[in-house]
Amino acid sequence: MNALSGEVTRSRIVSRGLRNRCPNCGQEPLFRGGFQIHESCPGCGLSHELGEGFFLGSMSINYGVTVVAFLVPVLVLYLTGVFSGLTAAVAAGVGALLFPVVFYRSSRSWWLMAYYFFLPHHLPANRRELDEGEDENG
Ligand SMILES: [Zn+2]
Repeated sequence: MNALSGEVTRSRIVSRGLRNRCPNCGQEPLFRGGFQIHESCPGCGLSHELGEGFFLGSMSINYGVTVVAFLVPVLVLYLTGVFSGLTAAVAAGVGALLFPVVFYRSSRSWWLMAYYFFLPHHLPANRRELDEGEDENG
């Protein structure tokens, strides 16, 4: 599992993913403008579209992080008496709408990062000649 033959290690994939950078070359941002992802990297040509519906997983990440990082703390603040019911309801409502927008870019980058973290040999920088009887998945 740790025997990567290429140059891009899993830690480098995570580092690039957390910075919204191309997982293959790390030089180019994934996005042009606010919310438009490059279909392929302008630097190395890596396609960021890995099939129809690929980025549906990023919605799951976005949802999960919104709940865990925003809504649960609001609930805890309400339950401990820091927030009144009205304050908690307004904070949760507004936050549930704004947090996913703010986190949109990171959720897409994290999803791409997760894909290549588990399948680092799919990166062009990590490709190598296959041994006899071996397929792309090891
Ligand atoms: Zn690239």
